Amino acid sequence: MDIRPEEISSVIREQIRSYRGRMEVSDVGTVVWAADGIVRIHGLRRAMQGELLEFAGGVPGIVMNLEFDQVGAALLGSVRSVKEGDTVKGTGRVAEVAVGDALLGRVVNVLGEPIDGRGPVQAARRRRVESTAPGVLARRSVHTPLETGIKAIDSMVPVGRGQRELIIGDRQTGKTAVALDAILNQKNKQVRCIYVAIGQKTSAVAGIVRVLREHGAMDYTTVVAAAAGDPAPLQYLAPYSGCAIGEEWMEEGKDVLIVYDDLTRHAAAYRTMSLLLRRPPGREAYPGDVFYLHSRLLERAAQLSEEAGGGSLTAFPIIETQAGDVSAYIPTNVISITDGQIYLEAELFRAGFRPAVNAGLSVSRVGGSAQIPAMKRLAGLLRIELAQYRELAAFAQFASDLDADTREKLAQGERLLELLKQPRYRPVPVECQVILLFAAAEKYLLDIRVDQVRRFETELLDYIDRNYPQIPENIRNMKQISEALRENLRAVITEFKKEFAQGREGMEDGFHEGD
Ligand code: ATP
Ligand code: MG
Repeated sequence: MDIRPEEISSVIREQIRSYRGRMEVSDVGTVVWAADGIVRIHGLRRAMQGELLEFAGGVPGIVMNLEFDQVGAALLGSVRSVKEGDTVKGTGRVAEVAVGDALLGRVVNVLGEPIDGRGPVQAARRRRVESTAPGVLARRSVHTPLETGIKAIDSMVPVGRGQRELIIGDRQTGKTAVALDAILNQKNKQVRCIYVAIGQKTSAVAGIVRVLREHGAMDYTTVVAAAAGDPAPLQYLAPYSGCAIGEEWMEEGKDVLIVYDDLTRHAAAYRTMSLLLRRPPGREAYPGDVFYLHSRLLERAAQLSEEAGGGSLTAFPIIETQAGDVSAYIPTNVISITDGQIYLEAELFRAGFRPAVNAGLSVSRVGGSAQIPAMKRLAGLLRIELAQYRELAAFAQFASDLDADTREKLAQGERLLELLKQPRYRPVPVECQVILLFAAAEKYLLDIRVDQVRRFETELLDYIDRNYPQIPENIRNMKQISEALRENLRAVITEFKKEFAQGREGMEDGFHEGD
């Protein structure tokens, strides 16, 4: 058998080529320092910013700092299992999360892996956790309402699809409750929801998931959770992961609502990480790019243009304030990035005005253009009457005898405030809100006792639902109140009030039916 030199040389060449290929896969380094979930690595010459790493034992990590002779990385898994001297491999991929409809009804971690014990997630696709926001040409201004089902919000602080509306308030003022109600209200509305829990107790997250399941809202909702006990890097990545899941749906032309609960803890997790990575601390020890942390996240909310598919991603970031101080560093940052804020006030909350929306300080800069005309008119009136009430109420405390006009304005204001109260998990469809505000605007509440206003509300809606279901349907379809409907509503409310007044007398006489 004769030996052909060209064959041998081609075999050798092939060997060398594949050897180089193998070299490329294993871009390896060595851990030289490890503490609190942060590691410093020597080697990894080809590491990219944001690249996923694999530590010995399969623990994942992510590249955070590219330095002259070192790579700083954060662990995304068990913090204690990585120690100095361990080897680490680059994967050549940046962080990705599983996306798609398989995630509906599931609770997942930052990488889209299930943590609800309901078996694997059969996701067909994965998507980068970080990505650039849609450009201005791919967007159009908000035009469809995103109804929260909360009377005080849909009327006075309306939100449009694609908008970023901040929910801000002290601790325990009902911030999460507002966000959850907004999710519950998306039932049968073809809006997919994502709730991102950042730095909360696992028990609190479990409670939220239970509420969503009980109300049938998990059918269209995904929960992304990085709990308080999870390493800071997971809490840092969670909102971006949730956002990527939402973006996938938005690009398919669907409407998505995402809640980030909350970005105060997110900023704190990022600060912890940055300090451990020895990035220079700035104001309140946050790193200099903490504004970019939230701006690049919230910029990804959008209402896409028709050409871009027409999908939308509406964001409700949540911020916790200390003693109502909205001028602190992180709150002012996020206020300046969002399109308005729902300001929840501890004082109102304690006084029993729940949801504790402060009508004076809450704004929605763009949502008005998405509000239905029927609501827009009534909401204008509502704002004016509440403002008048606030002004007069301050004076009335010191005045002994008031003229009739002032007395009426005060009475009207008290009833409006009562009407805006709303228990949790009880979203009110916008057409019903319109009916209630119409009744108030036309002064039908003036002769109802304040403590009877809420009973009046439920019973009126019940009555209309039973006897005149075409009225709310008409408002829903026409989006405004025609002159004919206005007359019709007046007649119906008058008719109902006769019945209601009798019912009240009955109660005063001592017939406590079904009490
Ligand atoms: P935290 O700062 O702990 O996250 P939060 O601001 O998110 O609190 P929630 O957890 O939503 O507040 O609500 C605090 C408490 O107030 C809850 O126990 C809830 O039962 C109650 N609550 C919230 N909204 C309402 C409401 N509309 N009516 C009655 N009670 C409410
Ligand atoms: Mg909360």
